[in-house]
Amino acid sequence: MKTLRVIAAVAGLTACLAANAATPPVTDAMIDADAKSAGDVLSWGMGPQGQRYSALARINTKNVSQLVPAWSFSFGGEKQRGQEAQPLIYNGKMFVTASYSRIYAIDLKTGAKLWKYEHRLPEGIMPCCDVVNRGAALYDNLVIFGTLDAQLIALNQDTGKVVWKDKIDDYAAGYSYTAAPLIVKGMVLTGVSGGEFGVVGRVEARDAKTGQLIWTRPTVEGHMGYKYDKDGNKTENGISGTLNATWPGETWKTGGASTWLGGTYDPQTGLVYFGTGNPGPWNSHIRKGDNLYSSSTLAIDPDTGKIVWHYQNTPNDGWDFDGVNEFVTFDMDGRRVGGKADRNGFFYINDAKTGQLLNAFPFVKKITWATGIDLKTGRPIYNPESRPGDPAAGGGEEKKGQSVFAAPGFLGGKNQMPMAYSPQTGLFYVPANEWGMDIWNEPVGYKKGAAFLGAGFTIKPLNSDYIGALRAVNPKTGKIEWEIRNYAPLWGGVMTTAGGLVFWGTPEGYLKAADAKTGKELWKFQTGSGIVAPPVTWEEGGEQFVAVVSGWGGAVPLWGGEVAKRVNFLEQGGSVWVFKLHKN
Ligand code: CA
Ligand code: CA
Repeated sequence: MKTLRVIAAVAGLTACLAANAATPPVTDAMIDADAKSAGDVLSWGMGPQGQRYSALARINTKNVSQLVPAWSFSFGGEKQRGQEAQPLIYNGKMFVTASYSRIYAIDLKTGAKLWKYEHRLPEGIMPCCDVVNRGAALYDNLVIFGTLDAQLIALNQDTGKVVWKDKIDDYAAGYSYTAAPLIVKGMVLTGVSGGEFGVVGRVEARDAKTGQLIWTRPTVEGHMGYKYDKDGNKTENGISGTLNATWPGETWKTGGASTWLGGTYDPQTGLVYFGTGNPGPWNSHIRKGDNLYSSSTLAIDPDTGKIVWHYQNTPNDGWDFDGVNEFVTFDMDGRRVGGKADRNGFFYINDAKTGQLLNAFPFVKKITWATGIDLKTGRPIYNPESRPGDPAAGGGEEKKGQSVFAAPGFLGGKNQMPMAYSPQTGLFYVPANEWGMDIWNEPVGYKKGAAFLGAGFTIKPLNSDYIGALRAVNPKTGKIEWEIRNYAPLWGGVMTTAGGLVFWGTPEGYLKAADAKTGKELWKFQTGSGIVAPPVTWEEGGEQFVAVVSGWGGAVPLWGGEVAKRVNFLEQGGSVWVFKLHKN
């Protein structure tokens, strides 16, 4: 009797230990509060609002010079290329994705590998801009990421075993997936990549635990949205916009507007924000009209999958000015607003609830395609001389249109690298680039799986001594408070902290820290390859850590024209670095 009771007690204790050892589930409340919880990084953006601000101040302007490596981990293999991932930190583990659709779980204390999942990619994938991945999402006991062949995969955080998988779309039609998924109210929200192949952009929501589709919302006007029941039966959920209102003829069928950088979510407004890419094809003369909802910010109600408001940054885009950049919500003058540094060179402030344009100003020095944004109408004031000419204008069908010089170049005043916002300084920290391009249009027809551009181009530097510039942007005044120039184009993201610091990486391989108020550079470390990814920070056991992925690549070496030649001395890599303060 006594023995039995002891056994029962031991069994109870064992069950209790097992329960403790299992991963505590990541909940919606935890993700919504991610920006405030210092011990973890649960979302891309260090909070679904995307501010990339940490309240940690253990590492600060006074001691950041004492920052030293704690450990480094190599992604290994023969596969390198661009590493654009933001790591996630939870439950003693780092989850980090790498090029060619790989994901790793790493022991936070030691830097030892816990597991790796390497997705088997088919021949014939068509990523436009390198074989990158920007990160994963956490929900319950799962870590979820997307692949270059447009699949979504959920793995057990402890074992790395696949729990569910779902196909987003057909990679042979040009679809791929590179963004970090967004978790909202138990759903995993994703977009699509493939805007250079005449795909149709969309946002869709799945049950994060099962992968079951809940709704889809096309981002090209004229396409039907759908909702799905538990058995997978779909019903119509309203057309996006009005058929043919802003797209002539059949052009809406291959309209692009891909949602390749993912989205942000603000629990205060209850809305998700997705930016949309260029309209297809690049030649704007064969799709006269605004071409909604390309090159726009869309606010979507996650409960219904309906578009609540839209603001189009570049109507009838003719320069590949993807409007995918992150819409970062914050408080300004007692109002909930969002900031977006657009590829077209203008920084926009929109009301986060209504989309009303409140301010727009340049954050790069040279913009030729528009002379400004009319705050009354919300529309750009175009400079017609900066729009590449119509190939059909000369009469001949096969003729190249007039070539023009335009700035920014299509790689943008800002591209995929996310900015940061500090409530402490009230400033945005924007990784900007100064470049232009020669661009011309050519006749083009749609063919499944083929590039759908109708344009030729050469990216050109504007200055001999720098292309990149980290800029502190005042969202109230539009003033650039300070800048730190960089020889190569900046392609990594930014983080800011309550320690009065800004962290960012450079293609030359340095992770750097500067004083957020003054722009004085305070620390740098050479990571061995170019940095094209955003840093993160967290605390554990009374110490603050900083991590960043290193590995040169992305769109610049592939599409950068004269700039690519200027930076072809940069070497590839693939590793993650973790730093902490040196203990004397
Ligand atoms: Ca957190
Ligand atoms: Ca594009």
